[in-house]
Amino acid sequence: MQIKLSFFGGAHNVTGSQYLLEANNIRLLVDCGLYQEREFQYRNWEPFLFPPHSLDAVLLTHAHVDHCGLIPKLVREGFRGRIYCTTATSEIAQIMLMDSAHLQEEDAEFKKRRHEREKRRGLFPEIPLYTVDDARASFPFFSPVNYEEIVPLGEGVKASFHDAGHVLGSSVIVVTVTQDGESRTILFSGDVGRVNRPILRDPTVFSQVDYLVVESTYGDRIHEALESVTDSLAEIINSTWKKGGNIVVPTFALQRSQVILYHMNELLMENRIPHLLVFLDSPLAISITEVFKRHSELFDREMSRLMRYKKSPFDFPGLKMVQTVDESKALNHIKGTVMILAGSGMCTGGRIKHHLVTNISRRESTILFVGYQAIGTLGRQIVDGAKRVRILGQYYPVRARIAETHGLSAHADRNELFQWISNLKSAPRRVFLVHGEPEAIKQFGQFLRENTGWEITMPDYRAEISLA
Ligand SMILES: [Zn+2]
Repeated sequence: MQIKLSFFGGAHNVTGSQYLLEANNIRLLVDCGLYQEREFQYRNWEPFLFPPHSLDAVLLTHAHVDHCGLIPKLVREGFRGRIYCTTATSEIAQIMLMDSAHLQEEDAEFKKRRHEREKRRGLFPEIPLYTVDDARASFPFFSPVNYEEIVPLGEGVKASFHDAGHVLGSSVIVVTVTQDGESRTILFSGDVGRVNRPILRDPTVFSQVDYLVVESTYGDRIHEALESVTDSLAEIINSTWKKGGNIVVPTFALQRSQVILYHMNELLMENRIPHLLVFLDSPLAISITEVFKRHSELFDREMSRLMRYKKSPFDFPGLKMVQTVDESKALNHIKGTVMILAGSGMCTGGRIKHHLVTNISRRESTILFVGYQAIGTLGRQIVDGAKRVRILGQYYPVRARIAETHGLSAHADRNELFQWISNLKSAPRRVFLVHGEPEAIKQFGQFLRENTGWEITMPDYRAEISLA
């Protein structure tokens, strides 16, 4: 067999996923992600490690920008093939890419002004990595497919997409290569979701593959149980209600916002919390929620039942969608307890900053963090216990209650990843661990070796490996 697999991103780090598969004179790129870690962002500006026009197709696992965020650049630089992904991924990815392009444009403008003021030059050019027009120009190349459909990619090469249970439309992608009557299957996990989670179905399991390329984001961690998440959510809402403060939730637009609404709906139906107004104050999250509403065929059984009985978590009494900035600012004048969900999830920008200004110094309010806070972000400073923080150029004392829940992750933890892999009835020829911090990959690799005896490879950035 002559198959080559190259690891051009998401190798010993968690963003910038990009894998090149070459076989039968066909070149496929699996994911085309943006680097988000500060130390690797320079790679976003480097030329692709292959001529973009030489690719036959791109296969996208899902719509998070660390998996699809470089698509506009790829198309601008000459890619003209098809971008295969599920319909929901195609819809959400286009929303995410427009948002990303807006941020790139704003960022470039901001840096230009700052550098002019400080009379210096920055590390990267003061132009956007890509523009809104670049993002829009990539949309005609999207070719939606259904789960389980066989997608022919050329002589002896085909792919299929299977529900990964991570975010709406997310996929595990299996590529099958046939040469001289022999076949090999290569499975790309994308990000693996979790069993028994709200809204989405469980990740699809596989009993046989030849090569496994699997993520390791939480390969060294075990998540909090889901029951304790609803309990702590109920406790936070009830105690903040008693004090008369607000609950301010910095949240991510894709999946996390919808899952919080799901739990709010659940707590309201069970009468475990008072009927309070809940504001989804994020145009991005609202647009993505609309995609959820259009794709009820992707929901799990519990969620389908809620929809059937008109108990949609995206439509409960008291839920308000906030589109304009003026409406958003008006929320600060409401008396009594409300819950405000706004982006960005790590408080690095967006409308959340205004809500923090209004609430962070009020003892009666709660700031509830529902996701990972990266080092160096305002969110991280707050959860680390800063006594005062700088928001929009001014300092504010932190007096609000700071709460965190860790059980809402959309990624499988170490045990869940192992459970998922354990469905394989025989050892793959080789397992490649990708998409994880070096320490997570190392620990997960050791754990897998000890528990399976399989051959585990932890490929370096730019590693090019021949598959037999
Ligand atoms: Zn993801």
